[in-house]
Amino acid sequence: MTARVIDGKAAATGVIERAKTAGAALAAKTGVRPGLAVVLVGEDAASQVYVANKGRTAEACGFHSVTHRLPTDTTEADLLAVIDQLNADPAIHGILQQLPLPRGLDANRVVGRIDPDKDVDGLTLVNAGRLASGMAGEAFVPCTPAGCMVLIRQVLGESLAGKSAVVVGRSNLVGKPMAQLLLLADATVTIAHSRTGDLARVCREADILVAAVGRPEMLGADCIKPGAVVIDVGINRIAAPERGEGKTRLVGDVDFAAASELASAITPVPGGVGPMTIAMLMANTVSAAYRAAGEAPPR
Ligand code: NDP
Repeated sequence: MTARVIDGKAAATGVIERAKTAGAALAAKTGVRPGLAVVLVGEDAASQVYVANKGRTAEACGFHSVTHRLPTDTTEADLLAVIDQLNADPAIHGILQQLPLPRGLDANRVVGRIDPDKDVDGLTLVNAGRLASGMAGEAFVPCTPAGCMVLIRQVLGESLAGKSAVVVGRSNLVGKPMAQLLLLADATVTIAHSRTGDLARVCREADILVAAVGRPEMLGADCIKPGAVVIDVGINRIAAPERGEGKTRLVGDVDFAAASELASAITPVPGGVGPMTIAMLMANTVSAAYRAAGEAPPR
């Protein structure tokens, strides 16, 4: 079997178009234009790229878009003051604190300061609690797992009843909310991590395999059940001497070539989950703006 390659870019374009249309409709009806603020502290190269993409996409959606770039030596008090100011700003409906933070800044305290109604990354305890309590409709769900669900549903439909799902990785940003979403869709869910014994055997049980580890091509053919749907969240930069000296390329956590021989559908890296993450941020920002305007968010 050669797997269908799931086109994350095309799916993301659809989500972004819907966010743009919904944002324009809200502005026309209420005068409220969705506003997104992204806060970046320090010089992390990957974060700089992600933040620039988020700002560009928000502008392309017609949103009010603000980026706060703060120096590496920013104190926690100063960063919290920026968050407080954004919490109080009626033109801002979504706040995203780009992670990781430089050493010395406590991510839990900083993210915890974001008003849960503006927490479009879904990382505050309120939104994590809502999701864990099965109140996904009222929660802001972290963008990456929310995007994975859109791709999974594209292949398998709304209900995952009777399907077994294995999520490799248990971070608050990806693995845990991913597992919650799969559970809410009625899949039977296993979470695997660095202490899991016989990982390949666990993964081979999966009708839906989500890899969110951060280790290049770690999951090979021995981890794939024939016919599985494979969602590769990992983004790993590796040396690519075949492209020339000093060149690099991006790979996922799954050995794409090997897994494609067995899976029924698989996301590529790049061009799979990555574009969906930014698209879902736009969707969450529109929802936040609708709520702030007292309107029912678009579904
Ligand atoms: P974390 O480092 O926070 O979590 C990694 C998880 O993988 C941990 O739960 C860890 O287990 C587990 N793990 C590590 N080594 C192994 C192993 N050998 N076997 C099994 N499990 C293992 O990473 P994130 O969740 O933030 O991100 C995961 C990946 O997804 C990264 O490559 C990241 O770049 C990418 N990513 C991609 C996004 C996108 O838009 N496509 C967005 C966010 C992340 P333990 O808990 O036991 O340590």
